[in-house]
Amino acid sequence: MKVIEIHTPSQDSVITCGAGCFKRLAPRFLAGHRNFVLTDSNVHALYGQDIKAVFGDAPVYILPAGEESKNEVSLFRILQAMIDAGLHRNSFLFAVGGGVVGDIGGLAAALYMRGIHCVQVPTTLLAQVDSSVGGKTAVDMGKVKNVVGAFYQPEAVLVDGTFLKTLPAREIRCGLGEIVKYGALNAKILDSLTENADRLFDLAYLAEITPECIEHKAEVVRLDERERGLRKSLNMGHTTAHAFELFYGGLSHGEFVLIGMYYELKIALAEGATTAEYAALLEGLILRVLGEVPRYEGVERAAEYARLDKKNAASDEVSMIVPADYGTYAELRLPFEKYRGYLVSLAEK
Ligand code: NAD
Ligand code: ZN
Repeated sequence: MKVIEIHTPSQDSVITCGAGCFKRLAPRFLAGHRNFVLTDSNVHALYGQDIKAVFGDAPVYILPAGEESKNEVSLFRILQAMIDAGLHRNSFLFAVGGGVVGDIGGLAAALYMRGIHCVQVPTTLLAQVDSSVGGKTAVDMGKVKNVVGAFYQPEAVLVDGTFLKTLPAREIRCGLGEIVKYGALNAKILDSLTENADRLFDLAYLAEITPECIEHKAEVVRLDERERGLRKSLNMGHTTAHAFELFYGGLSHGEFVLIGMYYELKIALAEGATTAEYAALLEGLILRVLGEVPRYEGVERAAEYARLDKKNAASDEVSMIVPADYGTYAELRLPFEKYRGYLVSLAEK
């Protein structure tokens, strides 16, 4: 078992990684409290008996699986169920699921009585390496992703790799999208990914690399919990990824992160922000996980979504975090027209 801690002014968050840690550690939080379990329909179908074995009679709220559930209507339904369950200030909410369950569950825990204990039990690779750690919680509203949310650190995160045995390969690829991003930010992770390029999809390898990624994110969150500076680095690839995710859809978030990184890497090279050798190394890794980069039509309109990105400082420029060299990155701010020109020439050829 590996333990990683994040101490912030509001909360000490203890992240434990290891096979079997869910069944071993979750019962420790139960004694003497009323508790509440949030999960989704897929996870409940697979792990309902384990949830029952660990949480006994605690109420279990089952969200329909999928991003469409991550909205304000579901949030208020969950809060109503928490009221009905008679939760009090010392109660625990356990979010057992992927990033959707973690994000909405974390926000419900933050809001109920202005904050009750939250334990994250991430069951997807993406949630284990990224979304369960660092305290960002949110729901989508209308077409705007993560627009209503709060920073709220979980008291504990139980990262149990045994959940990944039932995860479809496509969801593993999704998590690998964020893992490749960590590689572009952290030389040690990049070395590991290139040395193990043949076993990136092996659960044994993922159990090794997951704590490394969490440690990277934990250090960033310790230094910049509220994303005033350093934490923005974790948005690498995400400007274009979010634009394409909103405009085209049809792929997972992590797949779009790989696509976003691919295009932004080419832009970085053209702008002289990185070297050809380093760009080739990262491109090889991206393609190994993603397979082919899809060609897109109508990219001028997709680019408009990047113009609206909340990370931009001004309306006529697009900001991107791009790889520079081993373990370093740069922020590129391009006039919108120039960014759009790059995307059109790269994505439509
Ligand atoms: P998800 O929660 O929708 O899970 C993906 C699919 O896997 C779902 O169908 C789910 O039911 C299923 N699933 C979950 N666990 C499973 C298991 N063990 N076996 C089989 N199937 C399982 O999606 P996700 O990729 O985990 O998370 C995406 C969400 O995370 C997005 O809403 C994104 O905005 C958010 N996110 C948040 C942060 C953050 O810092 N808070 C960071 C990255 C992403
Ligand atoms: Zn992401």
